[in-house]
Amino acid sequence: MTVFDAASASNRSEFAARVNRIQPSQSGAAAQRVRELQAQGRTILNLTQGEPDFDTPDNVVQAALAAMKRGETKYTNTDGTAVLKETIAKKFARENGLSYKVSQISVANGAKQILFNALAATLDHGDEVIIPAPYWVSYPEMVSFFGGVPKIVACPAARNFKLDPIDLERAITSRTRWLLLNSPSNPTGAVYTRRELEPIIDVLRRNPHVWLLSDDIYEHLVYDGLEYCTPAAIDQSVAERTLVVNGVSKAYCMTGWRIGYAAGPAKLISQMAKLQSQATANPSSISQAAAVEALNGPQEGLRERAEKYQRRRNLVLEGLASVPGLACDKPSGAFYVFPSCRDLIGKRTPDGTVLADDKDFCKYLLDAEGVAVVHGAAYGLSPHFRISYATADETLKEACVRIARACSRLS
Ligand code: PMP
Repeated sequence: MTVFDAASASNRSEFAARVNRIQPSQSGAAAQRVRELQAQGRTILNLTQGEPDFDTPDNVVQAALAAMKRGETKYTNTDGTAVLKETIAKKFARENGLSYKVSQISVANGAKQILFNALAATLDHGDEVIIPAPYWVSYPEMVSFFGGVPKIVACPAARNFKLDPIDLERAITSRTRWLLLNSPSNPTGAVYTRRELEPIIDVLRRNPHVWLLSDDIYEHLVYDGLEYCTPAAIDQSVAERTLVVNGVSKAYCMTGWRIGYAAGPAKLISQMAKLQSQATANPSSISQAAAVEALNGPQEGLRERAEKYQRRRNLVLEGLASVPGLACDKPSGAFYVFPSCRDLIGKRTPDGTVLADDKDFCKYLLDAEGVAVVHGAAYGLSPHFRISYATADETLKEACVRIARACSRLS
């Protein structure tokens, strides 16, 4: 029998070191602040949202209802039903030219759990993960949680926020386990073309101990006729140590349904399944049935929504084009723009506050004009801020007018 030792227990922190190492999501905190202000009766133009504002397509909702009526309300296979895994394998063949067996497919509660499982299954203390910055907020936190070391590689606006293969090569050590690539990117909207990926894949080919985590969650949100290329499609030897991560959240407006999936080496997939079996077990059986319909059903909605997002992106770029102090590249994907506010840092607001950094700038926009955006530091690159344009055209137009007014009042 273990006897509880109060003396030694009093010397330790109340919570585990691994949870003390991580921070709550800063973009989640920004969204929470919006909800608080709204509860106080303020009208906030919310551009913090990382999710489509469109409803889940009706054919998907109907498929979920039918699954419930058929009694598909029980536990399923831990990492996805056979029919969903087959559907996902077909999706990779059809859309990406990638060939996988069902044993190479994993389904979890969102792409977020997929990433969590993959890192949990592979990182030991001190293992390194190369993360190009700006990055999605959760990447470095997850790596730290498992005792890994996030190796952040800066990708400034001058490089269109894309990884320089020379910087990648320099960042690799004998402890590197993964390179984490996210195209289209949250928060910049940057999309790697095949030509831009080739030299990066070349570096990986020369470093066979480095695996590739490719987060393709925004795959279907690309604009200006750009053809999406997933990094695994470039080289077979690198594909064999790549985990391609995707999901239905962004493409099919299904953020709340919590279905993400991945394809990769069978030995990794089975370790991820083992872990998931002891953590959450299967994702919702109903959501899995809905995901089958999303991936197998009519696909026209993808193009229609992408056209709407492209129009909104243009609307925001036009709205910000002549704003003094802001500079914004034209991103080709996702639903974010990531303007620089460098020229506004050090300026004074009408009440005399000096803007020390991008966090101050975002606070000023919220307080003075009721426009909520997320500061660049949250994503590892300052001084910038992220605007999500997954919201109504009218909201975006009004937000740009207010941002312009706020900037013109700085001195
Ligand atoms: N990757 C990126 C880059 C994201 O922006 C998100 C959602 N914000 C996810 C993964 C997770 O998506 P989900 O868990 O909803 O599938």
